[in-house]
Amino acid sequence: MRFEDFNLDPMINEGLQAMSFEKPTPIQEKAIPLIMSGVDIIGCAQTGTGKTAAFILPVLHHLLQNPTKGVNTIILAPTRELAMQIDQQIEGFSYFTNASSIAVYGGGDGEDYVRQKRALKTGADIIIATPGRLISLIGSKEVDLSQLNHLILDEADRMLDMGFHDDIMKIISVLPKKRQTLLFSATMPPNIRKLAKGIMGSYEEISIKISKPAEGIDQRAIMAHDPQKEALLTEVLKNKDFQSVIVFASTREKVKNIARTLKRKGDKVQDFHSDLDQSEREKIMQQFKARNLRVLIGTDILSRGIDVEGIDLVVNFDVPPDPEDYVHRIGRTARASKTGTAITFINPRDIPKFRQIEKLIEKELKKEQPPSELGEGPQYSSAGKSRSGKGGQRHGRRSSRNPQGKRRGGSFRSGKKSGGHSGRGGGDNRKSR
Ligand code: AMP
Repeated sequence: MRFEDFNLDPMINEGLQAMSFEKPTPIQEKAIPLIMSGVDIIGCAQTGTGKTAAFILPVLHHLLQNPTKGVNTIILAPTRELAMQIDQQIEGFSYFTNASSIAVYGGGDGEDYVRQKRALKTGADIIIATPGRLISLIGSKEVDLSQLNHLILDEADRMLDMGFHDDIMKIISVLPKKRQTLLFSATMPPNIRKLAKGIMGSYEEISIKISKPAEGIDQRAIMAHDPQKEALLTEVLKNKDFQSVIVFASTREKVKNIARTLKRKGDKVQDFHSDLDQSEREKIMQQFKARNLRVLIGTDILSRGIDVEGIDLVVNFDVPPDPEDYVHRIGRTARASKTGTAITFINPRDIPKFRQIEKLIEKELKKEQPPSELGEGPQYSSAGKSRSGKGGQRHGRRSSRNPQGKRRGGSFRSGKKSGGHSGRGGGDNRKSR
């Protein structure tokens, strides 16, 4: 199947071409025709499957066919980073159209709020918002939602986890009843179904099996006692084919220690955790995307939502606390059918956890031993118990999962910066002209 088969507005097809999107992903194949037909849907799909384009493209198409005066579409997202990433994707798809979008989110400084309000005054077809900020804007009558056609909830499970249920309901209470509602979630716990029942009439459900890592990932597992892990990581990083690497460790302290060790060895490395403030994290992410950093070491704060292309290697310095996290973490590589490598270090205590992961991914990985100069690693016992008393590890508090960072602009976007766009609209401060 090709994107042309959807009969999307030709300007959207042009944008897709410029972004080198050739073939729809499975969720796009399923979701785009359904959304174009106007039904409400629940989509079960995680980041990395192409879900963002799956909901943006048909909504953008509808918007171009039926322009509205006020805000046409609201996309609710749990975090500022995700809101920004979605906005950047919309910018790409709508590049050759006159549709406009703006991301509004809390967490920035007062200037951000003023800038967002100013941009809203000039009008925007699509608003991507974190729930709290949208409520403030609605409260201060900064935004006219009476013409709204589409409401999209992205990463709905995370929004509920983060306590946004009441905010979401408050927002929905001021929206026109006649609208299309699309709800996307990586998981489908009962509270998501309950929310869906409360905010949608009848809906279609589509699901992309979430618990399988992409085929393109070469998954490896190496048995290692804790004291061997840093040396093992150093060995792994000697392979210069791995030019863009993310390392996940279980605690901030560990992250900092590993970063210190690797920096001493002269690698371009940066730690990434919740001790850093927002602007520091953004700066680091930009450097990583620009390939000025080779290795980013983080807690799970790195694992969801990050949209950095071309990551060659993901290392699980520690086995992730729950199996779904493994899929999310290694999903940072081999995105949208590219290839990548994921290596997990397994200490004796983590063997039972790794067994759970193998159950989830329905695959048994070969358990490698570290290079002989690092000494023997533990054995992967069938009972899942440690055979050697060495190693073992205490897991620290689970870190926050706020994803950080923004999407890197591709060649298409750099083209945009250098001018020469052929959009129909004029030059106000809206971005997607
Ligand atoms: P998402 O799951 O929406 O976060 O998308 C993950 C990444 O895949 C993003 O960088 C998208 O730009 C990219 N992507 C999504 N769909 C396609 C496609 N059909 N072809 C190529 N890249 C895609």
